[in-house]
Amino acid sequence: MSKDTETKENEVESSDAPSGLLWDSSQAHVSQHWKAIWKTLNSKKAKQSPINIDTKNVQHDESLTPLNLDRQNILVHVTNIGWNISFKADNVNAISLTGGGLVHNYAFREMHFHWGEVHKGKCELGCEHTIDGKRYAAEFHAVHWNTDLYQTENESITSPDGLAVIGILIDANEKYEDNKEFEVFLEMFDKVPYMNNSASFNVDPYLLLPKNLNHYFRYPGSLTMPPLTENVTWTVLPEIVRISLNQLERMSKNNPREEWEQHNCYKFQRQSDSSTITNNFRYTQPINDRVVRSPLP
Ligand SMILES: [Zn+2]
Repeated sequence: MSKDTETKENEVESSDAPSGLLWDSSQAHVSQHWKAIWKTLNSKKAKQSPINIDTKNVQHDESLTPLNLDRQNILVHVTNIGWNISFKADNVNAISLTGGGLVHNYAFREMHFHWGEVHKGKCELGCEHTIDGKRYAAEFHAVHWNTDLYQTENESITSPDGLAVIGILIDANEKYEDNKEFEVFLEMFDKVPYMNNSASFNVDPYLLLPKNLNHYFRYPGSLTMPPLTENVTWTVLPEIVRISLNQLERMSKNNPREEWEQHNCYKFQRQSDSSTITNNFRYTQPINDRVVRSPLP
């Protein structure tokens, strides 16, 4: 490694926003087009996600019981949606989510990742939530809709208490081995290289999650992508998933929606000259008066 490389890596480490961010209009180089959209969406909002979870301020809450995950293989449709790869349940009532102090019953509808670009042999951005300021390379989201209050999943997306999302942070390092469970999802990335490509497979959506779900962080928040609806009960797991750097790099091989390039939605966030889907995450938002709770003291 040359001295020049070391210096540049350190710069990336010390900068919270090395090259701008999708959806974050505070970044000067985001196009006017997206600034306008952002302004409309973000006015008067106080419960936005993601957030930094400051563990010394987390409150113990005995009412938070272990989450009950119904682990089973279901048919999932994988689609390249232009800025991400979406894994959508064929039957959005097949897997229910209960326990965990959730007030309503929810059912699994969709899952996806957010991830960062490997730049000069490492990646320290890409996840959305941070824990004590630590930013990992990727984050997995399993999205559930409220089957008590709503008839359809579409209704739940923009309605009060509509969604419950489980998030788990993913660390990538050249020292880590390939993660076998993660590989199952990654193989599906390869099948949808271009916008609107789709494929299907059978998978347990909770494959990456730990068996023990006694410990988690809970807070009220929002979708992290437009429409940014503040109707999400967030469950962020403290246990970190490890993948190899090679696996992370392979996440960034798919191609985005062409029109986004015209709006500079992908160019502005590059550290390299890559034009594929990557860095599709949002930076942390103010916690305001919200409290993060946890079942463990
Ligand atoms: Zn997400």
